[in-house]
Amino acid sequence: MKKLVSAQDVVSAAERHESIYVDGNTIVTPQARDVAKERGVCIQGGPAAVRPTHGSPETCHEAGLPHEEEGGEPVLSADELERVITAALERGIWTKDDIEGLFGREGHSADPDVVPVGVSGRHIHLSQGDLERLFGTGHQLTPIKDLSQPGQFAAKECVTLAGPKGVIQKVRVLGPVRPQTQVEILAGDTFKLGVPQAIRLSGHLEGTPGVTVVGPEGSVVLDEGVIVAARHIHMNPAQAAERGFHDGQVVSLKIDGERGGLLDNVIVRVTEGGNLDCHIDTEEANAFHVKCGSTVRVVR
Ligand SMILES: [Zn+2]
Repeated sequence: MKKLVSAQDVVSAAERHESIYVDGNTIVTPQARDVAKERGVCIQGGPAAVRPTHGSPETCHEAGLPHEEEGGEPVLSADELERVITAALERGIWTKDDIEGLFGREGHSADPDVVPVGVSGRHIHLSQGDLERLFGTGHQLTPIKDLSQPGQFAAKECVTLAGPKGVIQKVRVLGPVRPQTQVEILAGDTFKLGVPQAIRLSGHLEGTPGVTVVGPEGSVVLDEGVIVAARHIHMNPAQAAERGFHDGQVVSLKIDGERGGLLDNVIVRVTEGGNLDCHIDTEEANAFHVKCGSTVRVVR
């Protein structure tokens, strides 16, 4: 049976300060040779099943394998690689899964329970009518940054929220405009404004508190529409099918790390225009030391 020298073997040899001895029955993977070069491990003996570049013998210098130049020929040609892989498969040295695992396989390496995190700060979605009351007749939002959900954007426009107990300035408007104005604030903001906490999914505004919204050209008194967003995971139907989720499913999130923990009552939202992203707010993210772009594990 052919012997295979992998990058891991070279790392082990480096740790033991040993050289690696090869013969005609040994296959040295290109990655192993790269690691040998980096770590200064000598690959000695031969002829191994590698082709020394420029026909020079396998020699050992302080820097490892100096006869390989930057951009030189690959150690094995494509044809040789194919023969090695085919032989390894036929002899049962590797399985098809091993090979695919080595080179990565589209859509397969993704763990269905690992999802990226998007962190939302306080923000407001406006109806066109309210946008014009706050910013002037005919006003259109000015997008400044695309958000994770297709078509959604952060706008240049900001408003002030005024409640019975206080105000919060510079609240970002997100676009595009919606049929109904919705204010998404943090739990801490409810104390500052003096409004009750209504933890809701977006769009579920019945019975939620109101607030006064102030813009440069006017103000709007909302009777309802102020929510603390319920944490949720966006995805489209294809992503839901691939990962085995359904709309409305309630899951938990396991967060690792120094301030890790478990977040319950996370709602799966499957929509045609959705894209895989788990949305928590800045308070939740700070409490668990999670950043935008971190990944978390779903617990079903
Ligand atoms: Zn969201």
